[in-house]
Amino acid sequence: MDYGIVVNNQKCACGKVHAAGIDDCISGKGVLAKLPEIIGRYNGKKAFVVADKNTFAAAGEKVCAVLESGGIAYTKHIFNSDALEPNEAAVGAAVLHFDKACDIIVGVGSGVINDICKILANLTERTYIIVATAPSMDGYASATSSMTRDGLKISLPSKCANVVIGDVDILKEAPLHMLKSGLGDMLAKYVSICEWRIANLVTGEYYCEKIADLIRSALKKCVENADGLLERKEEAVQAVFEGLVLGGVAMNFAGLSRPASGVEHYFSHIWDMRGEAFNTPVDLHGIQCAIGTLTAVKLYEKLKAYAPNREKAMAYVKGFDYAAWKKTLSAYLGKAADAMIALEEKEQKYSVESHKDRFEILCASWDAILKIIGEELPSSAELEALLDKIEAPKAPAEIGISMAIAKSEVFDIYAKKGLPMHLYCADTEEDVQFCIEKGASLITANDPSALLKLLR
Ligand SMILES: [Zn+2]
Ligand SMILES: [Zn+2]
Repeated sequence: MDYGIVVNNQKCACGKVHAAGIDDCISGKGVLAKLPEIIGRYNGKKAFVVADKNTFAAAGEKVCAVLESGGIAYTKHIFNSDALEPNEAAVGAAVLHFDKACDIIVGVGSGVINDICKILANLTERTYIIVATAPSMDGYASATSSMTRDGLKISLPSKCANVVIGDVDILKEAPLHMLKSGLGDMLAKYVSICEWRIANLVTGEYYCEKIADLIRSALKKCVENADGLLERKEEAVQAVFEGLVLGGVAMNFAGLSRPASGVEHYFSHIWDMRGEAFNTPVDLHGIQCAIGTLTAVKLYEKLKAYAPNREKAMAYVKGFDYAAWKKTLSAYLGKAADAMIALEEKEQKYSVESHKDRFEILCASWDAILKIIGEELPSSAELEALLDKIEAPKAPAEIGISMAIAKSEVFDIYAKKGLPMHLYCADTEEDVQFCIEKGASLITANDPSALLKLLR
């Protein structure tokens, strides 16, 4: 893959020497046939093929056939589970089945298989090649594994794949929901690049225009080809796959997640955390990111109508109740809130001083911020039309994450902990009545008309 950017040993205009993490990404029709040649590049003699039942059916058999015809010996491990989880048991099984005679690992799959293989490759210090079965998320080029350890979701440092192979003949047969998810994870890049520029402006955070441009053109290609996604058109599928790999590469180039992940990913992460803590519904990462992107774009549109108001802002800063924030966060996220609270204790982002400093910079840069938003983000109408086109969900409620669920759950936890009631989004008279009955001390609403009617 040609990144159109200076890599390895040479300094970019941003001052960094960019390293891609992966050695190569090979995508296109029929590229799986190149596997023996790629293994040859690393002097591989015997491959350890890892797949699960589904991914083996999707591409594993083809991988084995290609290895056989290329004269490369292999041992295979196929996970026999219907819902493989990236946890101790899965990594343990991969280690126990590992054949030490293998000098190369070939993963066949997407998110979970890749996460497990990256850990295995790191432990065994073997070259690692992933044959992608779905363009559904941007972890192909990342050097961390998303794992569940002791029941907690964590991100573990592992090892980047040496080579990512995306054979479009395989990728286009992935479940449609996964194809949509991949495009959703790409749409997130509108927001991530926009926010990366804003962060650079407001906090002086590192930024590289070349990386941003790389992502912009990959995203443009995905959007231009989106028409063909539902029909599994090759150009549409390949654009999404390459965009996702580039997203991971761009994060490696920058040494941070800014190029590929903004507030829309926070929405998705929070829904995942709530799913872990309270068993609320979750959907594929990219499906959630697409909804997060639309939500973020709508919020940025609202922002355009505002001008910074020093008096209001300072009143908010002074009234910010840190203890109440901690309690609300814990009630909303369960145990996962602990890490966020610990981070805030360290970073002090919500202290009066930090708030004040940021507000001054925001005031001074307001026009420039609005200009960035105008340049980087599509309108919510355009985005909605695009999501309609690929028949992807647009609102949290469509994937089962509704405010009604949040309300009832938060209510129970609050009651158990003896905390004052804080009910969200009481938008109907029924909701407001419920809040009053339960003795809520704080009620918020998106549409205050029901609240005003009953409380006046
Ligand atoms: Zn650069
Ligand atoms: Zn993502």
